[in-house]
Order: sequence, then structure tokens, then C-alpha cells
Amino acid sequence: MADFSLQIRNWYRLNSRELPWRKTKDPYKIWLSEIILQQTKVDQGLAYYDRFISSFPDLRMLAEANEQDILNLWQGLGYYSRARNLYFAANQIVNDFNGVFPDNYNDILKLKGVGEYTAAAISSFAFGEARGVVDGNVYRVLSRVFDIDDPIDLSRGQKRFSALANELISKTSPAEHNQAIMELGAMICKPSRPKCEACPVNNMCLAIANKTINERPVKSKKLKIQDLFFHFIVVSDDNGLILEKRHDGIWKNMFQFPLLETKSMELPSQLKKIYIEQEYRTKHNLSHRRIHATFYKMSALPKLFERRELIKIPHGELEKYPLPRLIDRYLEDVDL
Ligand code: SF4
Repeated sequence: MADFSLQIRNWYRLNSRELPWRKTKDPYKIWLSEIILQQTKVDQGLAYYDRFISSFPDLRMLAEANEQDILNLWQGLGYYSRARNLYFAANQIVNDFNGVFPDNYNDILKLKGVGEYTAAAISSFAFGEARGVVDGNVYRVLSRVFDIDDPIDLSRGQKRFSALANELISKTSPAEHNQAIMELGAMICKPSRPKCEACPVNNMCLAIANKTINERPVKSKKLKIQDLFFHFIVVSDDNGLILEKRHDGIWKNMFQFPLLETKSMELPSQLKKIYIEQEYRTKHNLSHRRIHATFYKMSALPKLFERRELIKIPHGELEKYPLPRLIDRYLEDVDL
């Protein structure tokens, strides 16, 4: 067991990527990077991390910002609840922890948007607490090295992997150990075609011996994707375009075209008698949902939207408003 940690850490020292959040012990910066990287690849996350650090160099500045500025900076990253939780948690730290970032796993876990993985990452990277991280990369490495067939999407499996991660972690260098195992999963033990010949733990990997690499990790069920059908009404003239603010769901507090949601891609009955200048269809995939979106360009807003809370935004001011990636892409693709 001790060999596992030693071997991955020796490998990490020689092979790890240089990333800005690895050079700091500041829990605020580490937290920010972890939230950005929750559903985002490192290459894409880097620019957002830099932008956040230069706009909000410390926790108090983030807590004192307004949510719309944070959503604006987040635009394009998706999973906007992460940005809203960042803002909420920054205020939680100000109010509940006197503005000082909590310095242990249990307190960090109380922050909104922080789960077991993120709390283990922050507490080990910033405070040297010996908590094993378990993310997708770690599940893959551990399930292969120890040839474990417990499903990673059931609590029985999750408990086993978490216990193993805590057993394996180096008590003297927990931060380096956690970084190393995640880096190994990201760079070497990839989901398909892992680079076993370059792997520092290939001498102890049971999945190689048992020829089970492609069957690890095990999941009990396939992800069920929900189809959603969004019909957006686009009304734009020389003075600007009409948008509405969302008050719920994944795009809460962001801006979109007035929306009708139905059960199919067919033209909604409410729009059948209205002249449509242009129709544009696209698909947008989220982790558990597939949005089938149709944008209908019209010269005036249909009556049924009259009671909605709408605003007209001059074209030149659009960048002040946080827009979901789907809306942003439409605006890039279509000449209004
Ligand atoms: S030897 Fe191959 S399968 Fe095993 S941990 Fe290393 S990269 Fe993954």
C-alpha cells in the first residue's frame, strides 16, 4: 500500500502539468479552481480561473460582488449553479466563519456547492489534512489497480472507494498524493486506451493481470437522458432585442429569449397562426438532459407573452447580461 503512494508521487514530481492553483496554498484560490473544474476540462478552466482571480482577488471581493457580475464572468462554462453556489458560499464564509476560509474537511463540507470530493481536495491541498479525494479519475485508477468491481454509482461502491482512498493516502504528503492520483487518471489511466506502459503502478495493477481494464470502473445503470423541447421567440429590431430573466432551473438569474416549453419539437399550437420570418434549430447537451431548441424570429412578440417580465436590451449592451451558452451560440450563428 505504501508503495502505491510512493510510486505515484515520484511519477507526479517528474510528470505533472504546471497549473496555477497547484502553486498556491490559498484555500480561496484552490476552492475557486476546484469549483471551476467540477464539470470543466483544465484547458477551458484556466482562462476562467485567471479571469476570476483578477476580478475577485480575494474572498471578500467575491462576497461583495453582485450575482449578475459573477454569472457574466461564468458565461460559457455551463452548469451555472456552480457560479451561484460560489457566491452563496463566499457570503457563508463571511457570515458564519468571520470571513476566514474554514480550515478543516468537516467545516469546508458545510459550504454550499462543496461535496465530499471538493472538501477533501481543499482540506488536503490547503491545510495538509489526510483525506483521500475520490473523483472520476480516482475511481478509474483505484478500480483498475485493485480490480474492484463494486459499482461506483451505488453507495456501497462509493463507501468502499472512499475508504480505500483514505487508507492509501500518504500521511506525510497528502496534498501531493491526491494531486498525483488525479493526474495519473487524467494523463495515463484514461478511460479508453490507458498508457499502461508509462504507468508508475503497472507492476501492481490487477486489471492488467486479470484483463479487466476495459470493464473498470463498473456502473450499475446507464445514465438516463431527459429530452426537453424549448421554443424561443426572437424579436429584434434596430433598438435591441427582447429577453426575459429566468427565475428558476439551471439558468436561474440568466437571460434568454421568451420561452415556450412543450413536449415535442413540433411548432407549438399557440404560434401556428403567427408569421415566422426565420426558424433555427439546434441541440444542446447537458449532463442529464438534451435540449431540442427552436428559435423563431418574428417581427413582434405574440400576445401570449405580454404578461411576462421582459426587457429590451440594446444590441451594444448585450454583453452585460449573462446568457446561457445555447443563447450565446445562436447569437453567434445567426445574423439578426
Ligand atoms: S497499469 Fe494501466 S490500467 Fe493499470 S492503473 Fe496504470 S494505466 Fe491504469
